[in-house]
Amino acid sequence: MKIAVVGMGPAGLRTMMLLKESGHDVHGFEARDRVGGRLKTIRTEAGFYEGGGEWIDADHHRLIALLNELGQPPVIADLYPGTVWMAGKGYVEDEYQEHQAVLDRVEEEADKLALDLDDVPWNNVLYANLDAQTLGGWLDQQAGSAGIPRRILESVYRSDEGEDTHEVGLLGWLCARLAYLERTGGEMSSARFPQGAQGFCEAMAERGGPITFGHALQQVTIDGSQIGLTFNNEEPRWFDRVVLAIPAGCLRDITFEPGISEAKQAAFEAARMSRTIKVSLHFDAKFWTGSSRTLTDGLLQQAWSAQEPNSELSTPKFTLLTDIGGQAAIDLALMGDEAAGRTLVAELEQVHPGAKAHYRNANLHDWVHDDFAGGGFFCLPPSYVLDHYEALVRPENGLFFAGDYGGRWIGTIEGALESAERVTEDINLASHIH
Ligand SMILES: Cc1cc2nc3c(=O)[nH]c(=O)nc-3n(C[C@H](O)[C@H](O)[C@H](O)COP(=O)(O)OP(=O)(O)OC[C@H]3O[C@@H](n4cnc5c(N)ncnc54)[C@H](O)[C@@H]3O)c2cc1C
Repeated sequence: MKIAVVGMGPAGLRTMMLLKESGHDVHGFEARDRVGGRLKTIRTEAGFYEGGGEWIDADHHRLIALLNELGQPPVIADLYPGTVWMAGKGYVEDEYQEHQAVLDRVEEEADKLALDLDDVPWNNVLYANLDAQTLGGWLDQQAGSAGIPRRILESVYRSDEGEDTHEVGLLGWLCARLAYLERTGGEMSSARFPQGAQGFCEAMAERGGPITFGHALQQVTIDGSQIGLTFNNEEPRWFDRVVLAIPAGCLRDITFEPGISEAKQAAFEAARMSRTIKVSLHFDAKFWTGSSRTLTDGLLQQAWSAQEPNSELSTPKFTLLTDIGGQAAIDLALMGDEAAGRTLVAELEQVHPGAKAHYRNANLHDWVHDDFAGGGFFCLPPSYVLDHYEALVRPENGLFFAGDYGGRWIGTIEGALESAERVTEDINLASHIH
């Protein structure tokens, strides 16, 4: 069976590995000149930091197992103690106490709603009311629309979703939450990649099939049992099966000839990616203690330190990384590196006095205006689960769909790997390989 996998992020790379292990003749295509997709390690003379995905949850079991198999066991990061900065005032995380009761009640309500869901929520019309709501609207009802608890909830969930909560559908959010309720490892986002996320992707690429870089898919032509792929206006290349492992927000840019089903096209059109950017802030001295994990209700949103730099350097470069979602990401992206860096450091100065004196420069990693990402994470908008989710993921006419939208751990590397397993199983079933 001759199979093409398009998109060499973690979903496509893992699909290639698994299909090759199953004995298929598999070829990868990638629009960029590198593997990794939204995983992108920036190497500097001081070491490296991540311009895209970075954290590994203690319950991302398949990612942890794969890293061990590839000889790159994850490194545990010390994220605590952290600082929370709301409405111009700093709280050490333990000092939330007066707001904690509200936060706990909202979390409990969310758990109850999530645990009540069917295994296959996209088939149950009884959830129409939940699906029509936004996460932000629901949080307003639960915690009031103003006040510190609501600000904290906005910061936490905006940071998790990479998007303002009023843009996120409630049912989709609850579906993703379910995976975390079954957690056994306990700690969230507790580990990182020892050789950078890119090193992980490169190791997967070595075990997959050959890859052709610089090839952006434009058109898919279905002709009987054969599927033609047109890249860069060249003649189509023909395959028995095709796995599209490109971000959900990029699927609408591909022309399907003859067309795919109306339901699938509608699912592509309505798919949303979070508006998420990362800004790395570089300093000539370490003015913070611990990991400097910071959560704010301002533009900065969430920051933490990159790995320790090489202390043998005469001027070591210390990096703080920020994950910024929603409208703030767009506002900062439009400012450019220099103005965005200055704005964020001015805010940081309030939280960590001394920041400004040691600030050197910033780099903006803009995933929203990146043609081959379309945003940070797959993010289910209101009414998407019931109207479109099943149509987005299901195989059609020899085409299979992998990506961080296609697993229970939605919007994560773990979800991307999960989708690769599902797609391999589907292809093997269709080819009678068990
Ligand atoms: C700022 C940021 C922070 C994140 N933090 C985390 C985190 O801490 N932990 C976590 O688990 N996840 C995180 N993520 C999410 C994680 O990066 C993604 O879930 C993961 O990369 C998805 O993998 P994928 O293979 O589905 O898609 P991608 O990684 O996007 O790979 C898709 C590939 O398809 C290629 N492509 C697109 N269009 C075409 C085309 N037309 N033709 C050919 N190729 C094409 C792209 O170039 C890309 O290489 C973060 C993402 C961002 C942006």
